[in-house]
Amino acid sequence: MTLKEYTKKRHFGVTPEPSGKTPKGKKESSLLFVVQKHRATQLHYDFRLEWKGVLLSWAVPKGPSLDPSVKRLAMQVEDHPLDYANFEGVIPEGEYGGGTVMVWDKGTWTAESEDVDAALAKGDLKFNLHGKKLKGSWVLVRTRGFGSSNPGKSWLLIKHRDQYASTEDITVERPRSAISNTLLAEIAHAGGGDVEKAATGDPIQELSRLAKRLAAKQRATAKQSPARSRQRSKKAS
Ligand code: MN
Repeated sequence: MTLKEYTKKRHFGVTPEPSGKTPKGKKESSLLFVVQKHRATQLHYDFRLEWKGVLLSWAVPKGPSLDPSVKRLAMQVEDHPLDYANFEGVIPEGEYGGGTVMVWDKGTWTAESEDVDAALAKGDLKFNLHGKKLKGSWVLVRTRGFGSSNPGKSWLLIKHRDQYASTEDITVERPRSAISNTLLAEIAHAGGGDVEKAATGDPIQELSRLAKRLAAKQRATAKQSPARSRQRSKKAS
């Protein structure tokens, strides 16, 4: 559990991502969990669990599923600093992970496995999520993986059967940010990123709703602007 690899991959003068060097706040007894929707080269969801001062991280290409019969591939990636949990914005193109990042879900987690380190070493971690979207009992199980390109890094993220299990597609039903209620396209726009690329990660119905909202705003501004320009010319005279 070290941030060496995380630091090596990034240029902190260029990317707005946290360096992990900011002093830690007060010790929280509860453990953070966050899922970041990341429209990089490929859309994926970064699933992160706080453990021993860092965020253990897995990239989940299809995102989490509430359906216990669905196993989602989760590739373990480098540990991230704790303050990464609040990062929502644009990583410049050409930088590591270049693209748009959304805080898709956030909350706390509790271990079901008694000894977390032993469970991680064994490759079978059972836990409960207390997020806005993801709740209840889950498991991460290490698999042999596909090919030998990343030995020991392939896991499966699976929902356990409980009252939070469902066949609804949570990634489609709840596509907005858990902290700003925005879409990827809006985050990209605000951060000067590639809006078109980001929008490919947003559901089409949400994008048409956004387009309607922007059009209404435009009409309202058009109505206001004659009054505004009159005011301006009054001041000028
Ligand atoms: Mn990522």
